[in-house]
Amino acid sequence: MSQNTKDPSEFAQVIAIDGPSGSGKSTVARELATALHVLYIDTGAMFRALGFFADQQKIDLVEGEKLTSFLNSIKMDYGVSSKCLIRINDLDLTEKIREHNVSKLASIISQLPSVRKYLLDFQRALALNKVCVMEGRDIGTVVFPNSFCKFFITASVDIRAERRLKQLKEGGDHTITLEQIKDDVRKRDETDMNRVVAPLKKADDATLLDTTELGLDDIIKILSNEVKFRAAHLGFVLGPNV
Ligand code: C5P
Repeated sequence: MSQNTKDPSEFAQVIAIDGPSGSGKSTVARELATALHVLYIDTGAMFRALGFFADQQKIDLVEGEKLTSFLNSIKMDYGVSSKCLIRINDLDLTEKIREHNVSKLASIISQLPSVRKYLLDFQRALALNKVCVMEGRDIGTVVFPNSFCKFFITASVDIRAERRLKQLKEGGDHTITLEQIKDDVRKRDETDMNRVVAPLKKADDATLLDTTELGLDDIIKILSNEVKFRAAHLGFVLGPNV
């Protein structure tokens, strides 16, 4: 298990993007990172990978000794190559984690304090000494509360469900209906916003952006201008540092 006990104030150079599932934050975060030439880190992929892998290993998704020793025994690698986003114990889970049932496993495992602690350490270690765009649910509130630039991205439930459906169809999954997805989206919001540890919420100092009516190019323009403005103010150098 990775250990990183450094003061979070040392991670001010992270661009934190939070928001509910399907808000478009992954696309926005990826495109923003590309536009700024900085590393993009998708923390949802980590919860998905852990949920999937624990389920495969028949680990009960509850706190306890079994979960602790599971977390202590695994090796997670993120951003291995352009094709391999995430691995656990050398098993490439990049494609597996996008399957619909894995969302539920991720949502369940993400409520467990020991899992959140494990990934908090992992995420802080990944971002050490880097300017990066990190997206998730608690990046601006818990993981990097001192981040110099925070965004909270949202969109209506209808548009979020439509985007998710499109994504699943593109991935070859034609089994699920729009209504089922809407239902899942609402349930996941409810769980994410009401969990005890690190719930989904906008940091007080985050900029709120509703993407329902906005095109991607406009969003990236708005966000990158704000990042550049803040970075210039603080003397952070954006650029190729991946
Ligand atoms: O972002 P994505 O939908 O891939 O995340 C999957 C699940 O992982 C979310 O529904 C949420 O429960 C959990 N998650 C989290 N904290 C994060 C990222 C994801 O709790 N920082």
